[in-house]
Amino acid sequence: MASKKSSARPETQVIHAGLDEAPEYGAVSVPIYQSATFSFRSADEGASRFSGLDTGYKYTRLGNPTVRALERAVCALEEGFRGLATATGMAAISTVFLTFLRSGDHVIGTDAVYGPTRLLLEKQLAKFGIESSWVPTEDLTAVREALRPETRMLFVETPANPTIKLTDLEGCVELARDCQALLVVDNTFATPLLQKPICFGADIVVHSLTKFVNGHSDVVAGMIVAARKKLHDRLASMLHGLGGTMDPHQAWLVLRGLRTMALRVERAQENAQRLAAFLETHPGVSWVSYPGLPSHPQHHLVWRQMEGPGAMVSFGVHGGLRTAKSVIDAVRVATLAVSLGGVETLIEHPASMTHAGISGAERQKAGIRDDLIRIAVGCEAYEDLQADLETALAEAAVPTHA
Ligand SMILES: *Cc1c(COP(=O)(O)O)cnc(C)c1O
Repeated sequence: MASKKSSARPETQVIHAGLDEAPEYGAVSVPIYQSATFSFRSADEGASRFSGLDTGYKYTRLGNPTVRALERAVCALEEGFRGLATATGMAAISTVFLTFLRSGDHVIGTDAVYGPTRLLLEKQLAKFGIESSWVPTEDLTAVREALRPETRMLFVETPANPTIKLTDLEGCVELARDCQALLVVDNTFATPLLQKPICFGADIVVHSLTKFVNGHSDVVAGMIVAARKKLHDRLASMLHGLGGTMDPHQAWLVLRGLRTMALRVERAQENAQRLAAFLETHPGVSWVSYPGLPSHPQHHLVWRQMEGPGAMVSFGVHGGLRTAKSVIDAVRVATLAVSLGGVETLIEHPASMTHAGISGAERQKAGIRDDLIRIAVGCEAYEDLQADLETALAEAAVPTHA
């Protein structure tokens, strides 16, 4: 489904992609088709739509022109076969698991993944006999050692949440191929502007569009992009049965956010790079994890598989958990909230918030330390963000170990 603008650069694609089905009246913004159902001109036409001969719309859970425009846009950016929009990021992830996993199957996942992804497998899908192992996927040997004959899926999040570690995508593609497992990548943190896992051989990409793609912290939404038709068809049939699909108004809002994604990501990434460098030299800060810093253990992967290091930064302070909480309480420009990828800078404490559902021992093993502060850097003036953290670190009376 090559669009006429598919050869354009990603910065151009985010602005134009999805508009291929010429809208009536020459509308420049994709119209909101707020209709649950679509009429047929004849009984024969209805029959041929249900048989699949005619690809026209039937019913919004099964497809809607506004939703379709967003699916086309994200799929074009990811260079996949076709996109499937979902109600939330978790609807995308759960649909992928339920489509391809059955009782007795085994999944290997990045140990530091989005908390609910891990809980879904460990707490819910374990009831159906699906087993999971959580390993530091930045270490390919650890992945290889976790492989079992019944391993059917590798689920990788890179950059990972909240440690901001990177996983070698090409290495994972090889391991997955060797044991005929699917490689699924959660590309939420990078966005398709900074990383295109399908181009490296991943089978499926999932997204929480709630984050950088929508970019305004006002919508929850998700997307699945399959690399091949066979995978897409199975996913579509599961999603239409489960019903976790997107609604046209939601799709329109996300499309509006998408149009400015290149500008937002560029600005947020620039702020993140400067803020990470500032934090690294601050005497109250004990460590910083940002792939754009040469001190990051997978710094070399940024230039091999990404267009840039992104806008997520994690750091720790001398004084541990108590001081970390005081710093979070003292910021004024950054907002204390979970989520990420909006124009505003958000700060949170994963061990007690997004990753609190995971046991303390498992958190420590995954590197989700108690002193870890996660910042989703936004698009504010850099000087205001640095001054905010400088003041917060001083007010929290962080002990310095210069
Ligand atoms: C937020 C998030 C999700 C879940 O998305 P929802 O839209 O909240 O359901 C999944 N993966 C990552 C990396 C996320 O940040």
